[in-house]
Amino acid sequence: MNRYALGGVWRGMRAPGMRPTWVLVLLLAAGPVAGQVKDRVLQVNFTPSDDSIRAATDEYKAIWGQEGPRIVPAMERRSGLRFEAGPIEVSVYEGTSYSGEPGGRPMLLRASYPAATKRATLVHELAHRLANDVRVPFDHHEVIFLFVYDVWVELWGQMFADEQVVIESRRTGADYAGMWKKVLAMSPAERAGRLKAVIAEYGTAR
Ligand SMILES: [Zn+2]
Repeated sequence: MNRYALGGVWRGMRAPGMRPTWVLVLLLAAGPVAGQVKDRVLQVNFTPSDDSIRAATDEYKAIWGQEGPRIVPAMERRSGLRFEAGPIEVSVYEGTSYSGEPGGRPMLLRASYPAATKRATLVHELAHRLANDVRVPFDHHEVIFLFVYDVWVELWGQMFADEQVVIESRRTGADYAGMWKKVLAMSPAERAGRLKAVIAEYGTAR
């Protein structure tokens, strides 16, 4: 277990009206069974920015309805991090995708991506949210790429993952090609080890 796993309990402790005895009971209960806690559902609300975006928004909703229950545990297991409580608000529009912030700006997702890139980008932006508290003095993609590729492979296969790396490497705005190259030069075990070290050094408790 890592310190993030108990986040919900600590948040509960700060909640007004929560009795200390109950907190103690919860803490005792959380310890031995934490590894077996059932994967919870992360609510993600997709809203179209205008009427012309409605079909794309429905596509994202369908992806989440079908794949969400696999996406959340795969991402949490591969990263060792826990998602925020949610719900995560997403605005679908025609523009650059953006992760948003927990309790802050909504996530933005591009409407016109083909179906596969919709899935890949949803995982990419959710990865920024999942690693929101890992504050690094370098590009955040060098954190999330350490687990995003392996999550893509686990969920949809290596061909899918390799295609999405090619697509992301063509994007401008950051050195996506260089960062993907660097991360993929490592073995999956090396990526996992590097991620653990980065979280240990730069992770901040929620
Ligand atoms: Zn990004």
